[in-house]
Amino acid sequence: MEPRVIVALDFDNEVSARNLIEQLDPTQCKLKIGKEMFTYFGPDFVKWVVSKNFGVFLDLKFHDIPNTTAKACLAAADLGVWMINVHASGGLKMMETAKQALDHWGNNNAPKLIAVTVLTSMDQVSLNQIGVNRSTTEQVLNLARLTHAAGLDGVVCSAQEALILREQLPREFNLVTPGIRPSGSALDDQHRVMTPPEAIDAGVDYLVIGRPVTKSEDPLKTLTSINDSIRQYPLS
Ligand code: C5P
Repeated sequence: MEPRVIVALDFDNEVSARNLIEQLDPTQCKLKIGKEMFTYFGPDFVKWVVSKNFGVFLDLKFHDIPNTTAKACLAAADLGVWMINVHASGGLKMMETAKQALDHWGNNNAPKLIAVTVLTSMDQVSLNQIGVNRSTTEQVLNLARLTHAAGLDGVVCSAQEALILREQLPREFNLVTPGIRPSGSALDDQHRVMTPPEAIDAGVDYLVIGRPVTKSEDPLKTLTSINDSIRQYPLS
């Protein structure tokens, strides 16, 4: 069964990151590597994780002119990762060009390409400051529709946004969602969290879960219990 949990690594120490990865199982989760880790540890680290058979979501959120973004996506695909992302606010052309660049990898080998709509750190004031006068929800929906029109595979969204996006976009459009907390675990700096079963009920396809697993005394046991809580919902 394809894992639906993507463990967000967020380490600034490579030895600690490798130690955690050695304790995890690629049949139980995928792994998210973001800008901090990629900048510290580089492409060789990503290749090492891929060589351990983990599906890697390389969360670098590219946003540039279409040609540059497409080339960055190709470079990421060359690392053998499972999923990459761009900012939808880079526009339709940027997303289409990136998607087309990945075409030569073929449907089964190209990484999934998803987009970020509105960063959850943005509120109405910060949207207005950059000239967006729609509500946050309207802007999320607008950019998610643009992402779909560009042929991308899905978006990153909050669990609350997932409820709306699932109604408005086709079922095969992937929703990838952070801010998930198994019941009883610490919220850390997350607000308005959902549990794994709640997120899946809301229409989320992939659950991004970091600290509840990475800070656990027994990461694999925590991961297994998260998987047990959603086992009745296999990915179609
Ligand atoms: O440890 P935790 O489960 O909170 O990690 C969530 C991961 O998802 C982190 O890598 C964080 O940067 C990322 N993320 C998020 N909220 C967003 C977008 C990304 O928590 N809106």
